[in-house]
Amino acid sequence: KKKIAVMTSGGDSQGMNAAVRAVVRAGIFHGCDVFAVYEGYSGLVHGKDLIKKMEWEDVRGWLALGGTLIGTARCAEFRERWGRLAGAKNMITNGIDALVVCGGDGSLTGADLFRAEWPSLVEELVRKGEFTEEEVAPYKHLTIVGLVGSIDNDMSGTDSTIGANSSLERIREMVDYIDATATSHSRAFVVEVMGRHCGWLALNAGIATGADYIFIPERAANPLTWKEELKEVCRRHREKGRRKTTVIVAEGALDSDLRPITSEDVKNVLVDLGLDTRITTLGHVQRGGTAVASDRLLATLQGVEAVKAVLDLTPEDPSPLIGILENKIVRQPLVDAVKLTKSVATAIESKDFDKAISLRNTDFIE
Ligand code: ATP
Repeated sequence: KKKIAVMTSGGDSQGMNAAVRAVVRAGIFHGCDVFAVYEGYSGLVHGKDLIKKMEWEDVRGWLALGGTLIGTARCAEFRERWGRLAGAKNMITNGIDALVVCGGDGSLTGADLFRAEWPSLVEELVRKGEFTEEEVAPYKHLTIVGLVGSIDNDMSGTDSTIGANSSLERIREMVDYIDATATSHSRAFVVEVMGRHCGWLALNAGIATGADYIFIPERAANPLTWKEELKEVCRRHREKGRRKTTVIVAEGALDSDLRPITSEDVKNVLVDLGLDTRITTLGHVQRGGTAVASDRLLATLQGVEAVKAVLDLTPEDPSPLIGILENKIVRQPLVDAVKLTKSVATAIESKDFDKAISLRNTDFIE
């Protein structure tokens, strides 16, 4: 009987519960035992009560619940070999040799490293007398499958990450509220949204709410001209009769010298223009609460596919990332997707913003 573990790791996102539910139920449907690893990689490292066998009814009602009910954490120990060794020991103790990880690129990088090291970790456990050769014989290979749970939509190799559309919808709702009061008082608002390295939320929220201006990291502003351009655009909109001004700023917005453009910087420009200006930093409302239908669907389809992948994969296959491309659920090598994702950050660091935009699939903004 195949034993599969599922965990959520890194920052939480809406739809993670739906993903765990789908893995648990698809696993049971296919005759597997499914375990939840609580608290991300900390659960693997510390084991015991943090690794729990799940039954069908344990995930009842989870589709509609926000956050992640099996917990998530940043786990420094798993970055160290001894932490991963403890993780391997706890997996073998529970009879588990397949792991589905729902998290961001950091979590998936850790997962792939764990798989690459697995044979040597098992060897070391035998050498240290934790298990006999016979005991580890069924655990020569570790199967890892990645699901991308992230509000930022920052992973290459998938058009949408689990949580991104829920977060976008939350921002849309908040900006609509802000716009109503802004129009009443003829005010300007700078709305700061999440996205340290990725402007997807800011860009799409700006388009969906008809914002006057948007700042994102991938399309860095000209340090010499952005203030004048911003003023010019907002002034023009006001002259045409608009009673409110809304500027959306991604938290990682930059100018092309890689200096941050903060909400305060933007506010100062609008104040200079004579506008009564307020800043609203949306913060964690963007990741709390329930998932929209499309994220529940995405998480469910991908969770089912993750279990199928566990059952199909041979030890020679690379660890897959389950994504969605052009409306189809697809598998592709996890390492390639992680590498491509990192190349966007590298493009930004080396000031190649055109490349960053094209790698992000957001070239429509040109
Ligand atoms: P988010 O996109 O929300 O930041 P993330 O998955 O990228 O999510 P990280 O904090 O980067 O979040 O990673 C989560 C956890 O994954 C880390 O705390 C660590 O336990 C593990 N991890 C990340 N990178 C590595 C790595 N290179 N080697 C081993 N483990 C790692």
